[in-house]
Amino acid sequence: MAQNIIVNLIPNKNFTSEHILTKKDLTFDQQHIWHPYTSAINPLPCYEVTGAEGVYIHLATGEKLVDGVSSWWTAIHGYNHPKLNQAVKSQVDEFSHVMFGGLTHKPAIDLCRTLVDITPQGLDRVFLADSGSVSVEVAMKMALQYWACQGNSRKHRFISPRNGYHGDTFAAMSVCDPINGMHSLFSDVLTQQIFSPAPQTRFDKQWNEDDIKPLEQLIQAHHNELAALIIEPIVQNAGGMRIYHPEYLKRCRQLCNDYDILLICDEIATGFGRTGKLFACEHADVSPDILCLGKALTGGYMTLAATLCSEDVAQGVCQGEPGVFMHGPTFMGNALACSVANASLKIIQQNDWQTQVFQIERQLRAELERCIHLEVVADVRVIGAIGVVECKSALNVAELQKAFVQQGVWIRPFGKLVYIMPPYIINPKQLSQLTQAIYDALK
Ligand SMILES: *Cc1c(COP(=O)(O)O)cnc(C)c1O
Repeated sequence: MAQNIIVNLIPNKNFTSEHILTKKDLTFDQQHIWHPYTSAINPLPCYEVTGAEGVYIHLATGEKLVDGVSSWWTAIHGYNHPKLNQAVKSQVDEFSHVMFGGLTHKPAIDLCRTLVDITPQGLDRVFLADSGSVSVEVAMKMALQYWACQGNSRKHRFISPRNGYHGDTFAAMSVCDPINGMHSLFSDVLTQQIFSPAPQTRFDKQWNEDDIKPLEQLIQAHHNELAALIIEPIVQNAGGMRIYHPEYLKRCRQLCNDYDILLICDEIATGFGRTGKLFACEHADVSPDILCLGKALTGGYMTLAATLCSEDVAQGVCQGEPGVFMHGPTFMGNALACSVANASLKIIQQNDWQTQVFQIERQLRAELERCIHLEVVADVRVIGAIGVVECKSALNVAELQKAFVQQGVWIRPFGKLVYIMPPYIINPKQLSQLTQAIYDALK
C-alpha cells in the first residue's frame, strides 16, 4: 500500500497548517474520491496543491513545480493572471449565472462575436457548451439532425481516422480510437462508427499520396450512410500525440465536399495558438462545417466549450420538424466562464502569443532533439508549443511522476509518451528545466 498513499511529505513552514491535508483528509480522498482515469482499488498517488502562479504549481510540501502540462493544455497565460482574476471578480459582483433560455447577456455576446471573428471563415453560429466532450456531442448531434431534417436519416454514421480522441461521453467515445478508447468494453452500447488508418505522413515530410487512399476508399464505399467526418486538425492529441501533414486535412475537406459529408474539426486541444497558428485548420487553409473548441478557451480558469457551425448547417438543422436544435445545457452561457474567456481572448489578441509559441517551438526542437539518442526513445516530434518524446515501451507513470516532482517539474506521461505543452508565458530557463528533466528521467 505504501506507494498508494497520497504523497504528503514534511510540511513546509512557509505554509499555514490549514493548507496541509490531515491524514484523515488523505484517507478520505483515497477512499471516496475518483480522480481522472484512476482506480478505486489501487489509486495512483496525488500531490496536494496549495497555490499556483505564473508557470508554477505550489505543493503543500513546499516544492514549486514548473508546469509542463498547463493543467491539461488549458492554462496558456499561466496561473493567477491579474487580468483573468479581475474578469472573474468583476463579473461575480454583477451576476454569476442566469439561465440562457430566453435570457442573454453581454459576456456571452462578446465571446461569441470574438469567436465568429477569429475562427476560420464561414463559422457564423455559436453553441456554448459546458465541456469539450459536450461540445463534441453537440457537433455530432448537429450533423445527425442536419441530415435527418433534409429527409436523409440514412446518413447517420461517422468516419474518423484511428488514434483520435474526442472525449469520454458516449457519442464522443464512439469516434475515439477503438483501441485507446477501449471499445471492446462497451461494444454493445457504442454506436459502430467507421475508422480509417491514422494519417502517416509527418507534418514536415514530403506528402505521400498513398496516405489518403484508405480514407478515400472508405468514403467512396460508405458515403450514403455518413453524416460527417470528425478529425483533430494537424495534431492527434490524447490518442497518441501524432503530428500529420496539412495535405491530409486539405484532402479531408475535398472528400467531404465531393461526397456530401460534413467536416467536423475538433480543435479542443489545438485551438488558441498551441500549434503555432491560432487554429490548426489554418495550417491547411481549411474551414470545417462544424468546429469544437474548449480547453484553453477560458485560459484554464473554468470549464467552457463551444461548437461553431456554418450558416448552412444551422439553417439545415432547423428546417422542418422539430424546427429547433435539440440541446440546451443548464449552465449554457455561464457568465463567469464567458467573462474569463473574454479576458483570455483579449490577451491573445493583444499579446504576442505567436512570438512566444514560435520561441517555445525553436527551443523545444533544439533541446528535445538529443533525446532521440537515448536507448529507450523511439521518436521526438515538435510543433508549436507541443513537444513529444515517444518511448519504445509503456512508461511507469507513478515512478516518472515522482522523479519529475523531485526535479521541480510537473510532467504527466501516458502510455509510451512523455510530452510537454507549457503555458505560453514560460521563459527559456524554465523551459530548459522541463526538457532537461525529460532527458534525465529517460536517461
Ligand atoms: C480534451 C479533449 C476533449 C474532451 O474535452 P473535455 O473538456 O475533457 O470533455 C475532446 N477533444 C479533444 C481533441 C480533446 O483534447
